[in-house]
Amino acid sequence: MYPKIMLYNTLTRSVDEFVPITEGKVGMYTCGPTVYNYAHIGNLRTFIFEDVLKKMFKRAGYEVCHVMNITDVGHLSDDADSGEDKMEKAAQKEKKSVWDIAKFYTDAFFKDEEELNIQKADYIPRATDHINEILALIKRLEDNGYTYTANGNVYFSIDKFPTYGELAQLDKQKLNAGERVEIDENKKNPHDFVLWFTKSKFKNQSMLWPSPYGTGYPGWHIECSAMSMKYLGEHFDIHCGGIDAIPVHHTNEIAQSEGATGHKWVNCWMHGEFLLSEKGKMSKSSGTFLTLGVLKDNGFDPLAYRYFVLGCHYRKQLQFSYEALSGAQNALNRLRSAVREIAKNAQGQTQSDSKALEAYTNEFNAALYSDMNMPVCLAVLQKVVKDKTLPDVDKCAFIRDTDRVLSLSLTDILDGKDKQEAQIIPDEIKDLAEKRLDAKKQKDYQQADSIRNKILSLGYSIKDTPQGYEINKL
Ligand code: AMP
Ligand code: ZN
Repeated sequence: MYPKIMLYNTLTRSVDEFVPITEGKVGMYTCGPTVYNYAHIGNLRTFIFEDVLKKMFKRAGYEVCHVMNITDVGHLSDDADSGEDKMEKAAQKEKKSVWDIAKFYTDAFFKDEEELNIQKADYIPRATDHINEILALIKRLEDNGYTYTANGNVYFSIDKFPTYGELAQLDKQKLNAGERVEIDENKKNPHDFVLWFTKSKFKNQSMLWPSPYGTGYPGWHIECSAMSMKYLGEHFDIHCGGIDAIPVHHTNEIAQSEGATGHKWVNCWMHGEFLLSEKGKMSKSSGTFLTLGVLKDNGFDPLAYRYFVLGCHYRKQLQFSYEALSGAQNALNRLRSAVREIAKNAQGQTQSDSKALEAYTNEFNAALYSDMNMPVCLAVLQKVVKDKTLPDVDKCAFIRDTDRVLSLSLTDILDGKDKQEAQIIPDEIKDLAEKRLDAKKQKDYQQADSIRNKILSLGYSIKDTPQGYEINKL
């Protein structure tokens, strides 16, 4: 009844057949953003990969329960308990309260999701709303003998958990102190990690809660264990994140969760590869990162970024450049025009070649269900659009069906809800825009400005883009 879905599991290091815990259902948890800044486009690449994963399951007929947390406390600039508190640092810099920072960047993240057609998770728990669950989990770990207290903080003792590091295939014996983490004198093993901080390194820590261990705040890793188990139960299907989460964050999540319950926690671990900037991995801490807002300011459509991301397999590194993004924008524009044409031609058509449509759908599914080979899925879509023998009604059916996963808003075009279509720019304005472009090329900026004013006076705005310009009705 359900198609065979093959997925790469970081735990087994192989592409395995997906077998749900409960027939017809998928429980998935994806580590959400740490809301101390805008999400960068690397983060968004991971969230797009997770969105495709969820929509793939839904299209295959599964009922999906998706939980994504919001980390609004406890994430230090180094994943392993050292460095500065990300939220506190941002609050100091922006002269706002940590709560205001969290709210502002959470809302900004939701807007990014919407613009990228990323469907919201079914549950979006905030760490600060789950302190009781976090403390209850720490108590279970304490009862099971996994914790110790040193200098006021509660630590997880990894030596008590024999399979520690299995996910990352860490060979504990070979790891020297300080190789992966900063030395902390309070730790029995340098890879132990904090479950509950009371001795804050940050004098003005404002997010504090009472606890049996003293007033303090939770470590980052325990948040994901507590919130995932609350909404998905103590054993669920899939846990996702970016590959940077494997060696510390997800490794520690497994130790805590399985230490508390005494049994397997997650069946399949999936990780998205990095988006690279010119300087290497894109990261917020480096200070130089790109946001969706910056791409938009440069004239790009957020969905061109989605198209760009879909053009690379999620387990491959993706090098960002504006040139490559322009290529994606052009390809998407061409695709949209073709779909507009198809929609027009399909009106009143009933003739259908179901065999050819079925063959294309099978080709698409084969790629999608083989560890989400989205570049091939896009190539099949392009083939369908360009096929001269396939009836337009079939093309429409294919576009509608596959857009449930690709989410490039092609269905809106079929339904006549396309914004670009609705906005018909008169020839007079287009001519003026071309004349302005010529004037700019000849460095006649006075003339260019005067043409812009004329365009404005006629009720249209004009914005420069890497492709030339964009006109909008005011
Ligand atoms: P954060 O907001 O830092 O907690 O990260 C949110 C998500 O983005 C996590 O799943 C990270 O693993 C992921 N991530 C961080 N940097 C990158 C990157 N350069 N490329 C792709 N994903 C990333
Ligand atoms: Zn997490």
